Amino acid sequence: MEPLIITAAIVGGELSRSDTPYLPITPEEIAAESIAVCKAGASIVHLHARDANGIPKHDPKIFQEIATRVADLAKASGMEAPILQFSTGGSIGMSLAERIAPLSLNPEMASLTTGSVNFGDGIFANDQATMEGIAAELKRRAIAPEIEIFDAGMIDNARRLQAKGLLPAKIHVNFVLGVPGGLSGDLENLAFLRSRLPRDASWSVAGVGRFQLPLAAHAVAAGGHVRVGLEDNIYFRKGELAKGNVPLVEMATQLARDLGRPVQSVAETRAWILQLRP
Ligand code: ZN
Repeated sequence: MEPLIITAAIVGGELSRSDTPYLPITPEEIAAESIAVCKAGASIVHLHARDANGIPKHDPKIFQEIATRVADLAKASGMEAPILQFSTGGSIGMSLAERIAPLSLNPEMASLTTGSVNFGDGIFANDQATMEGIAAELKRRAIAPEIEIFDAGMIDNARRLQAKGLLPAKIHVNFVLGVPGGLSGDLENLAFLRSRLPRDASWSVAGVGRFQLPLAAHAVAAGGHVRVGLEDNIYFRKGELAKGNVPLVEMATQLARDLGRPVQSVAETRAWILQLRP
């Protein structure tokens, strides 16, 4: 089995400190958390940014500050900096222009959601023009996409983008399951989604809330990859908040150890994503 790629979604675009006091907010905190999760086994950090008041802000300047701090901290620790995967989802209601603005920094990887989904009380809207706009920008800049799949039709949308030449021949998808309003995180749903993927696609799973641990365990056993972190789940176990992202990443590395699967290093993941570049 291939080594396990652990992605840490450390901040997200919807949570606040009133949900959990352990959420990193400032560029300094987000950079420190990125290094900490990397030391714990994550090779990719899925990134959102906040302004000085903690409000989600897709501002290239803030992304740049985070990226610079991550590079500096990694250098100071004598380690390879984790891969920063910029969100192009932003938070509910952002315009296409806002969502793609940070791509001007040419990150190594970025997320791309291929369809709309109810998201709590709101709608995470990704109409055809939005999907194509983001995909075209990723292609133009040769940024590796991670396709975010919240529901089955999103796989078909990704295939259509691929047929239009907007996605690379080999795609990597991340199933985000258990969002209130989207597809739940039952194993039967994951099995069905996997069966609908193009043959050479690779996959990862992000279980939201109570689905994080069982879906991570399943993915480790089944040869998929894993996304964990506060963006998807703020609890370490029922009723007990996770004290930051590190305990959640450690949970994933522990699963890998228990099931005898090596965890992929940053250098290996950096080489691996080259095949995903458009
Ligand atoms: Zn995100």
